[in-house]
Amino acid sequence: MSATSLDQIVSLCKQRGFIFPGSEIYGGLANTWDYGPVGVELKNNVKKFWWDFWVTNRDDVVGVDAAILMNPRVWEASGHVSNFADPLVDCKACKKRHRGDKLLEEKLGVEEVAGIALADVTPRLIKEKIKCPDCGKVDWAEAKQFNLMFKTSQGVTEDSEREIYMRPETAQGIFVNFKNVLNSARKRLPFGIAQIGKAFRNEITPGNFTFRTREFEQMEVEYFCAEKDWKKIYPELEKASWEFFEKLGIDPKNLRWRQHDDAELSHYSALTKDIEYKFPWGWGELQGLAYRSNYDLKQHEKFSGESLEYLDTETNEKFVPHCIEPSFGCDRTVLTALLDAYHEDEVNGEKRVVMKFAPAIAPIKVAVLPLSRKEQLTKKSREIYDMLRAEFRCEYDETQSIGKRYRRQDEIGTPLCVTVDFGTIGEDDGQSKKDHVTLRERDSLKQEAVPIKKLLEVVKKKLSA
Ligand code: ATP
Repeated sequence: MSATSLDQIVSLCKQRGFIFPGSEIYGGLANTWDYGPVGVELKNNVKKFWWDFWVTNRDDVVGVDAAILMNPRVWEASGHVSNFADPLVDCKACKKRHRGDKLLEEKLGVEEVAGIALADVTPRLIKEKIKCPDCGKVDWAEAKQFNLMFKTSQGVTEDSEREIYMRPETAQGIFVNFKNVLNSARKRLPFGIAQIGKAFRNEITPGNFTFRTREFEQMEVEYFCAEKDWKKIYPELEKASWEFFEKLGIDPKNLRWRQHDDAELSHYSALTKDIEYKFPWGWGELQGLAYRSNYDLKQHEKFSGESLEYLDTETNEKFVPHCIEPSFGCDRTVLTALLDAYHEDEVNGEKRVVMKFAPAIAPIKVAVLPLSRKEQLTKKSREIYDMLRAEFRCEYDETQSIGKRYRRQDEIGTPLCVTVDFGTIGEDDGQSKKDHVTLRERDSLKQEAVPIKKLLEVVKKKLSA
């Protein structure tokens, strides 16, 4: 298990401006979270890193940004209206609601519970003597299917109102645009379509901070291919998925693959594997990699009446492409990056908390810190700050003692600090040489004198190392 406790992360996130409880001044809204000034930088960096990795740096993937509100027929076609449900169990003693399958999984493991029939959930909870997490009684009502889609309505007058859904996944926005992308981007198979965006699920038991929320962001690719090619492509996407997390700076010791067994697999999937992370409460899904056959496109053909066939110009063969889906949770990836980056060490006998983010996702890359607020020093520091901020997300901070400012930068994971002292401006104080600054590295705590002329180049090199 990750050594970092969730409480440490939640409190650091609030204190330093990564993540705040949603609507807090109104007493909050259960399990909603807002990203603060540092958190939004981290999340945007994760999204950019993902987009660069899966779209910009590949010739075979293009992007879309589809609407959250879609024609309700989409969700009939995808199966979400009839099947996107979890088994809800009421505790008869305290009236609290829980997800029956998750309670069973906690005791018996995912494999044992996969595919359990609705009617078997409550008898099994009773047989295993599983207690209500709220009141400790074993007094379960019969399990009911609970559809996770949020409903809303569209239209300005009551008689024209139409019930629609907030999308529960971004994938369907890709499938319904398959034909448009094919015609406009002129891609040949195999190719992928990527999307980052919000999804909404009325989860019965959200929790564990941002791990399970009702509003969250997904980063998904639907990778289309001919049926004969999926077995060759799947391992390539598997390798790329793992590499994504490694490059993001996640310790591979805290990651593992878990393959779904037959009971857990969707009826249209012949192979699904998840990448899981060792969260403080145990292993949990970060990303799914599912071979989905051509189920989705076929369903949309059936429900829309439009042909979604692809013409192979070499063989003159027409077919509906198959698809492999790498599906990432953005907020779960950010949470993983926070947990994995958290380190404690000791500096001069004092505990130091340091977030060791990979430079690419660190919210602030460089902090410029004048040693005092004397005008000449702050003027020089501002010049250096302006030079660096043209290239990187930087912060300028002249408040409090230098020790406290270093501590703050360590806690938000800034890889480099530039200190400007009196030596820099030519006043001999036994510290820096004239026109030199001190560059401090977050992880090694190494400090070196760097000529201002070379600063940009040195910083660039260190951030790309
Ligand atoms: P879980 O079993 O945890 O409910 P899932 O198998 O339903 O997840 P998918 O439908 O495969 O999840 O969604 C793809 C990704 O979206 C997941 O791997 C996860 O990272 C993320 N995700 C799904 N549900 C949530 C949620 N409620 N809150 C935050 N992220 C989520």
